[in-house]
Amino acid sequence: MIKRPDGTADLLPEQLAGWNRVERIVREVFGRYGYLEVRPPIFENTNLFTKSTGDTTDIVEKEMFTVPPRGETSDSYTFRPELTPGAIRSLIEAKAFAEKSFWKVFYWGAAFRYERPQKGRCRQFTQFGVEALGSEDPLIDVETIAVFADILKACGVARFDVRVNSLGCPACRGAFREKLKGILAPQIGTYCENCRKRIDRNVFRVVDCKVDAAKTASLPAITDNLCEACKDHFARVQRGLKEAGVAFVVDPKIVRGLDYYMRTVYEFSSPDLGSQSALGGGGRYDGLVESMGGPKIGGVGFASGVERVLIALEAANVTAPPAARLDFYAVAASPEARAPLFAIVQTLRAKGFAGDLDFEGRSMKAQFRSANKSGARFAVILGGDELAKSVVKLKNMADGGEQAVSIEEAAGMLAKGRTA
Ligand code: AMP
Repeated sequence: MIKRPDGTADLLPEQLAGWNRVERIVREVFGRYGYLEVRPPIFENTNLFTKSTGDTTDIVEKEMFTVPPRGETSDSYTFRPELTPGAIRSLIEAKAFAEKSFWKVFYWGAAFRYERPQKGRCRQFTQFGVEALGSEDPLIDVETIAVFADILKACGVARFDVRVNSLGCPACRGAFREKLKGILAPQIGTYCENCRKRIDRNVFRVVDCKVDAAKTASLPAITDNLCEACKDHFARVQRGLKEAGVAFVVDPKIVRGLDYYMRTVYEFSSPDLGSQSALGGGGRYDGLVESMGGPKIGGVGFASGVERVLIALEAANVTAPPAARLDFYAVAASPEARAPLFAIVQTLRAKGFAGDLDFEGRSMKAQFRSANKSGARFAVILGGDELAKSVVKLKNMADGGEQAVSIEEAAGMLAKGRTA
């Protein structure tokens, strides 16, 4: 038998109850905040990711699922490792900013990264997130953090931490970058191989390194090296979070892996997740929309992984309600009754009732076993007698009471059964 690829999951009905519950809550909370859904394609031109996600990031360097060009004129395509570039591209391509200068959008969909699979780290996973495009207001940074916190609370994630930082703007970050390089250069020989490579290409990734965490602890913090405008922006974000009652800590080690972030960055993590502790993260990316061919506007957003949220929910013992019960299960008393019974089932389904019947030609006894298992409130039974009189026998599965009724009467009793 051919098995599913490493790092992917099969979602069967039992798991999907939890998934669908989270998706319902995510959509409900985003709706409450006024975010509108966008759904870009699952694969994009590879250049979209090398240019926006950034060609010094792990994602682009090592983790992309890329389909090479076919034929001379065709482009290389990549299965999206994140949804931000596609979401923004879709708005620019639709000339959405000519119609409205500020957009709040959300997405929910699959993402793909060629990583070493482990708990909470998959090659196909699902992300939800938002992009708020067209504002540099610190309050919109606050809103994206608040909406994510609200989703986690509404889902029932019992324990999570919010850590925020500021990466400054190209001006103050540039000066800080040189300062860091100056401090690190004499000692970089003692750092890991990745850090030695990163010092020139992206020195902030050295700060982020898990291997050399002990060595980087004493490095100066970006938050002490911000220009006045960035300092003010960060102060307002923190004030907004406090006033809105969102608990957070400032953590100068949060740098995020992607190239496009500036000013506010943040990460949500949970002690219930083990080594892959990030529930999601995001930040501000002024300049990204313009670099992708859109207007010069600010932007901020976050992305979260549904698999991680579900692990946190399992730890909190949050279970999804079982699938909705059937109103009725139809039982044929003879093989001849099956076709007319199916027609009756269709009539009841058309009236909005949920019902099912046997398709394996099983005995009446076995059909009643299925009726019991299905959790249906009523069995709708059809035999020769009923057929002759154009009625059905309706059996209340709870008390065993039976009566012969017309289809109309049966519908009335099924409706009453729902409210009982
Ligand atoms: P990132 O932008 O890389 O920080 O990803 C945002 C969020 O997506 C992370 O915090 C995780 O919750 C989730 N995520 C990223 N990569 C994976 C993966 N390989 N498997 C499962 N979830 C992931």
